[in-house]
Amino acid sequence: MPKLAINGGEPIRQPYQRKPTTSNDVQRAVNQVLMSGVLSDYLAAWGDKFLGGQAVRRLEERWAHYFNAKHAVAVNSATSGLVAACGAAGISPGDEVIVSPYTMIASATAPLWYGGIPVFADIDPDTYCITNLPVTERTKAIIAVDLFGHPADYDAIRRAAPGVTIIEDAAQALGASYHGKPAGTLADIGVYSLNYHKHIHSGEGGVVVSHDDNIALRLQLIRNHAEACVGAAGVTNLVNMLGGNWRMGEIEATIVYERLQYLPAIVHARQMNAGWLRKHLTIPGLTMPTVAKNTTHAWYLFAMKYDAETIGIPRDVFCKAVQAEGFSLVPGYVKPIYLEPMFQKRMAIGNAGYPFSLRPDITYPPGLCPTAERMHFHELIYTNVIHEDAGPGLLSQFVDAIAKVIENKAEL
Ligand SMILES: *Cc1c(COP(=O)(O)O)cnc(C)c1O
Repeated sequence: MPKLAINGGEPIRQPYQRKPTTSNDVQRAVNQVLMSGVLSDYLAAWGDKFLGGQAVRRLEERWAHYFNAKHAVAVNSATSGLVAACGAAGISPGDEVIVSPYTMIASATAPLWYGGIPVFADIDPDTYCITNLPVTERTKAIIAVDLFGHPADYDAIRRAAPGVTIIEDAAQALGASYHGKPAGTLADIGVYSLNYHKHIHSGEGGVVVSHDDNIALRLQLIRNHAEACVGAAGVTNLVNMLGGNWRMGEIEATIVYERLQYLPAIVHARQMNAGWLRKHLTIPGLTMPTVAKNTTHAWYLFAMKYDAETIGIPRDVFCKAVQAEGFSLVPGYVKPIYLEPMFQKRMAIGNAGYPFSLRPDITYPPGLCPTAERMHFHELIYTNVIHEDAGPGLLSQFVDAIAKVIENKAEL
């Protein structure tokens, strides 16, 4: 009789279904918007409706206040937010932009929309955030990512590139902090995601924050058809003033406005769960995540390092066996981004290799970021079992599932 669920044995538990994220206050508020008939209130013109409707403005005000940022600009996704941030930063064709190879792909490809050339910095093997930045005199900006909810080391980044615009991708880090300051406000421009698998969400959405008045105006322009607004606005710097429609609707803004109050409880629950796991998952060959000094973690995901030799099971087989017991456990995160065809074939916009053709000196050979490759292909595994509606019951079953797979490895 097999014991492991992957071989037909009894699983530790049935696969878990997350609870829907809604509540009466959200339903009431959304209903009011629906009854008002105003689902968006933007016009692509400089004037009353340039900044959108009441709900969007109310959300921006609350967001800025909550995260202690001077300006908040709501957008329809963090991807649009990152592109707008690159535009606002003035990235121009051929400019170098230092990015992470190990992140959701938009944080590395955003500069390409303006002809910027991504230059990959390798990641720290403990925080998975960028380190050892290849700064040159042509570095125009840096996009640092607070991966899995752990803020990057912004003091070190600032020291490595004084005067260079730093963009913080805080999509996964709502509620994290660094030296007591909220993630998202640690650089010149910060970008949050509100898509359906982030801490707070409206299905799709994002917010960009900045302390800089001029950057904020440029973000607002790019979000809403800048080219149709700059004339009347008297804006004379036309760099990247080709805008889009990256506006958030009134319903999404209302949902996020109502949900924001739950963020502290969500992050607290995840911190408790992560703390519990780090204490109880003491298995030789599994290294628990670390949290850097002066940093708090928002625990979007819980990433561990897996030593296949010590445990005696190949990484992929181990993850599949734990999954069969009813838990999420995934080998690697996203393939180091420079290994994607866009970089390997140097083809992004049009058929002549633009913008890579502007900088033949910047190349993307396999092996470019050895730590990112080692983590992705060999060592890293992650789970989302630390989510806010989990608790010691579910977590101890997770620990049991891992112990069960290791005890019965002869079956695999
Ligand atoms: C989710 C995510 C994004 C993109 O967010 P969207 O709102 O889905 O566009 C960008 N960067 C990171 C690190 C993310 O996790």
